Amino acid sequence: MNMIAALHSDEQTPRSLLDLIGNTPLVELTQFDTGPCRLFAKLEFQNPGGSIKDRPALSMITAFERDGRLQPGGTLVEATAGNTGLGLALVAALKGYRLILVIPDKMSREKVLHLKALGAEVVMTRSDVGKGHPAYYQDVAARITAQTPGAVFINQFANPANPLAHEVGTAPEIWEQMGRRVDAVVAGIGSGGTMTGISRFFARVSPSTEMVLADPQGSILVDVVEGRQPGELGSWLVEGIGEDFVPPNADLARVARGYSISDADSFAAARELLRLEGILAGSSSGTLLAAALRYCREQTTPKRVVTLFPDGGNKYLSKMFNDAWMTDQGFLQRPQQGDLRDLIQ
Ligand code: PMP
Repeated sequence: MNMIAALHSDEQTPRSLLDLIGNTPLVELTQFDTGPCRLFAKLEFQNPGGSIKDRPALSMITAFERDGRLQPGGTLVEATAGNTGLGLALVAALKGYRLILVIPDKMSREKVLHLKALGAEVVMTRSDVGKGHPAYYQDVAARITAQTPGAVFINQFANPANPLAHEVGTAPEIWEQMGRRVDAVVAGIGSGGTMTGISRFFARVSPSTEMVLADPQGSILVDVVEGRQPGELGSWLVEGIGEDFVPPNADLARVARGYSISDADSFAAARELLRLEGILAGSSSGTLLAAALRYCREQTTPKRVVTLFPDGGNKYLSKMFNDAWMTDQGFLQRPQQGDLRDLIQ
């Protein structure tokens, strides 16, 4: 068989989009000032559902199938409107499961329409109530699961198949793509799956690899990591990372260093990333990049540092990539009269 025929053999052609989850590319960022370090980014938005959450979505559903709790045609329930919802909707559609997503009503119309287009059933609940209230979205999801025969509650915050997806997928891919030399990994925490899975893998193969947290300003996680009394909980606009509690899936034992990044710095980093490297990534990618750059510039010896870009920038075109929105939010200066005249002429 000649080379071309070998490349086109049917055995190598993926038979489903599910086969294209994982094995994302890694690229070096060469256009930023990285001090004595080299900085690399894993492009997780290249997963078929558009984010890193395709990995745990597939892993958690497969685990429920294996342990017999999920039967053919069964029902999955989760409380999320984020990337986990999109990943679950993709996997559920391809595997023929019914998916019910409980979503707080502050979520954007585009996200809800996208989930419905993928066939998910959306149950809207109030976003202005907290834990303990009967309309709290996590509690609504648990109730729907209990009332639906044969339904399973995915529960990404405590499901062990979530970090496992990164321990057996994301982390070994990074290790091989980096030629088995990694000095530090910079990641964020939403459910904790990414950080925990990568941290457990490196504890085995390269215990000296440092795990570094990138946390949005207002989240309590950075204080927990650095052993401080958590400061006052704030709010932030970056999506997908930062918490007001430590999720059961967040194993922080090997995370010794953390950076608290403002929305302004996260958005500025994501916008620079597009201008300098041509990478259209999401808001949490901006937080991770800003933290990775700070870490790199603080080093006194050369290091090989890896970060991840969890989702793409398309979802944020009308927000952080939109100058009018950035100005309204106070992140960009309103044009002065002179600038306006320049624009009109
Ligand atoms: N970035 C984005 C955009 C996300 O949606 C998530 C998942 N919430 C994360 C980062 C964090 O991933 P993890 O849940 O594995 O902590």
